[in-house]
Amino acid sequence: MQQYNYIIAGAGASGLSLAWKMLHSQLSEKKILIIDQSLTPTNDKTWCFWDAADPPFADLIYRKWTEAEVSIFGNRSIEPLSDYTYYCLRSGDFRNHILNSLKDHPSFDLLETPIQNFSFNGQNPILHTDKTSFNADFIFQSCFNPWDKAEDHPRHPLLQHFLGWEVTTSKPVFNNNVFTLMDFDQTFGEGIAFIYLLPWSKTSALIEYTIFSDTLLEKKQYEEKVSLYLSNRFNLKPVDYNIERKEFGKIPMEDRPYKPWYKPRILNLGTVGGVTKPSTGYTFKRIQKQTDAIISSLLSKGTLQPQPPSKKRFKAYDLWLLQIIDQHPKDALRIFNHLFKNNSLDEVFRFLAEESSIFDDLKIMSSVPYLPFLRAIPKTFDRLREL
Ligand SMILES: Cc1cc2nc3c(=O)[nH]c(=O)nc-3n(C[C@H](O)[C@H](O)[C@H](O)COP(=O)(O)OP(=O)(O)OC[C@H]3O[C@@H](n4cnc5c(N)ncnc54)[C@H](O)[C@@H]3O)c2cc1C
Repeated sequence: MQQYNYIIAGAGASGLSLAWKMLHSQLSEKKILIIDQSLTPTNDKTWCFWDAADPPFADLIYRKWTEAEVSIFGNRSIEPLSDYTYYCLRSGDFRNHILNSLKDHPSFDLLETPIQNFSFNGQNPILHTDKTSFNADFIFQSCFNPWDKAEDHPRHPLLQHFLGWEVTTSKPVFNNNVFTLMDFDQTFGEGIAFIYLLPWSKTSALIEYTIFSDTLLEKKQYEEKVSLYLSNRFNLKPVDYNIERKEFGKIPMEDRPYKPWYKPRILNLGTVGGVTKPSTGYTFKRIQKQTDAIISSLLSKGTLQPQPPSKKRFKAYDLWLLQIIDQHPKDALRIFNHLFKNNSLDEVFRFLAEESSIFDDLKIMSSVPYLPFLRAIPKTFDRLREL
């Protein structure tokens, strides 16, 4: 059986972020295997995040914006961001760059094959493919969901699900200085729905119809909404644009307890590591925090001491909001309305990035209707006790 110091199982956002950081640290002297069912870079995901300092993977940033639009209950507002910049990078560029840097490095082996499962022999974790097995000191896995017990199932199995079109248009219609964070669709009743729009140029943009709910739509239903938006907002008929690419995604917005280990010495990474912010679906920046912590723990202690991705108070806010979105979506819409009306976008971003102080949190809390929260809090007690 081939032996490694570390195996990175899954070469997506989290696996490759970790590999990149190993490559640029003293850990690059270790023997490391990266394994994924596909190592072909494709631009199938657009990863966005906001940052107040230098962004991670700055050389790979595809676009950035310092003005954002929000539209709710007929009020459309465009606001400059002063503390944060909103960044976007494309999964294909990211994978291409990192895999190219790793492939000629003597410490890293890349293997393209499906992983069957993992086991633990009492001393080392083992990764199994259908042909062979590999063992390591630690495995970092972003492939398999670690929750198997019924009591770990989410109480609010919400998803952020979306389908978007990347279009090029025959006339200049987009304001490429401003991205649309949320343009809410009040006609949608079974959750929260909105358009998210990233303008690449005046004639090109990614437009996504996004929903927070527990039930996926048929693909054509999201597409009808995107088409309707292009028509109503920009007066674009299908002959006026080409659909260059489609992007579909579903991201968990879950209230499961944090589960760091898949099996002994096999750490859960990225989305299956519970890193996704439950109330927003944003994951990319939190993956950077998780992988930074792994590197510093391995370097300083030679072992791993995983930390939950959120402080308890932020986890509690998330649970309350999930409860409201799931059970009372109309109340959730009113909360979003007050949130954006009564706070600057910088304040909202600081809160959602969990960089706010307790006083900032109190200001945000007092700016939104409190009754839905009074109803939600007792219903989240069981989950809160598990924190
Ligand atoms: C379309 C889309 C857009 C998103 N946009 C954003 C965004 O703008 N901002 C943000 O913060 N978050 C975003 N997210 C959420 C999150 O950042 C991404 O899902 C991110 O890719 C999660 O990283 P990950 O490493 O956990 O999983 P992935 O990137 O999905 O990586 C998992 C890897 O494991 C491999 N794998 C799985 N099973 C096996 C197996 N059995 N054998 C071998 N390999 C296997 C897969 O091929 C994949 O490469 C988005 C998600 C999607 C789906």
